[in-house]
Amino acid sequence: MNSKVLQVAVVGGGAAGFYTAGRLLARHSGVLVDIFERLPTPHGLVRYGVAPDHPEVKNCQTRFEEIANDPRVRLFGNTPIGNRVSVDLLRQQYGGVVMAIGADKDRELGIPGEQQIVSARQFVAWYNGLPEAQELRPDLTSDDTAVIVGHGNVALDCARILLTDPDKLRATDITQQALEALQRNRIRHIHMIGRRGPLQVSFTAKELREMTKIPGLEMVTDRELLTSQCGSDEGKELLGRKRGLKRMMGILDNHTKNRSEAEKTFTLGFLRTPQQVTMDPKTLRCQINQLEGAPEGAKAIPTERITDIPCGLILRSIGYASTPLEGVPFDSRRRIMPNVAGRVTHGKELIEGLYVSGWIKRGPLGVIATTMQDAYRTADALLADIQQGTIKQTDRIKSDQALAEAGVNDMTRVSNEDWKRLAEHEFQRGQRRGKPREKVTNVGEMMRIIKR
Ligand code: NAP
Repeated sequence: MNSKVLQVAVVGGGAAGFYTAGRLLARHSGVLVDIFERLPTPHGLVRYGVAPDHPEVKNCQTRFEEIANDPRVRLFGNTPIGNRVSVDLLRQQYGGVVMAIGADKDRELGIPGEQQIVSARQFVAWYNGLPEAQELRPDLTSDDTAVIVGHGNVALDCARILLTDPDKLRATDITQQALEALQRNRIRHIHMIGRRGPLQVSFTAKELREMTKIPGLEMVTDRELLTSQCGSDEGKELLGRKRGLKRMMGILDNHTKNRSEAEKTFTLGFLRTPQQVTMDPKTLRCQINQLEGAPEGAKAIPTERITDIPCGLILRSIGYASTPLEGVPFDSRRRIMPNVAGRVTHGKELIEGLYVSGWIKRGPLGVIATTMQDAYRTADALLADIQQGTIKQTDRIKSDQALAEAGVNDMTRVSNEDWKRLAEHEFQRGQRRGKPREKVTNVGEMMRIIKR
């Protein structure tokens, strides 16, 4: 029997992996796709990154389910690629291999005392139930003031979760453990600091507006700086071109004070670069910057002045970072797998049959819709190569044997049916608590539920 088929392996079961797979299936009836995911659970940051109070953002999971239910797709959950199942093995056994492994670390500040700082990525993963983040135990009780470093949407997500009444989160899919910890949370004042000014923030208007809706919360900022930046000729010109930014400056203008004595405050601090963390009492020392250059690409230039912020919890939210995987070139400066339109390159050479999609392709920026569009471009490159005849057909029986020899079997692998069983268990647990789901947060427990 001829078992030669057009098989593609997708490494990573997050949004980038699923959207790449979906496009391949939609555009080519003969393609078979195997999705490899290191965790027993698929959906990556949609499950473990999107804030629990943003359920509408998770609607894309319905599309991922449709893709996983396609008979041409097989899910290999709990199957990390790298050690026993190497990228080289996949490249031998599949016509195309798409790397969609995202960004699993974060950027660091590189300052003395950084070990006292908690990664915002980990904090988000903790309240969303990622197994490896469950030991985090963020300090929510030693002080009423926290600092978040960074002016992106992840920073705003963390601030909102910390300042929202936990009763409002009760009906979301936040984990029970996080909910209980947040009920003991004493943090009432958050300083969210960035190294540049109001015109250089990375967060977006919708997320900023949500902060204005938190009952009893007053927002504080340096209004003089806001007015001077927005009112300068260059500022006006930029705001004329960027409607989203103009809307945000309007929100800040309408909803902030210069100072506040309220019981709950959210202070947006500008021109602050963390310099060191000192203890007893815990303090984040920051250098005060001035801006140089046109607003759009303005640089933060340190001055001699410093300011100290006494606080308990400090979160670092300055962006995610990808890590390399053996068998695939890695650009350690840009922290991506080098590629031309999704085809992985080594120097000037294209590596035949190797593709990349998502944050590992372009860096840790953009919302799910950006990842979808970008995944389609990678899939289209692969489809064009099928048309050109550069993607080889491979033998499914032999590739399944090779996977089995590398230790992939029905006891270790989580199939789509297995995942559905776990998801159903989570829905039922959630239902009892009036939540959409109660996530299982331990890999051993996940496997017991799946395989019992
Ligand atoms: P981000 O948007 O890139 O923001 C990173 C922030 O960190 C910026 O303010 C940046 O300031 C600052 N930063 C970087 N390096 C720094 C350093 N060495 N020292 C001090 N500050 C530094 O990253 P993110 O918040 O992690 O978000 C990642 C992506 O996910 C974004 O595209 C975001 O929109 C998306 N996301 C969306 C949502 C949503 O739609 N609700 C939620 C979460 C995440 P500079 O500009 O000065 O570099």
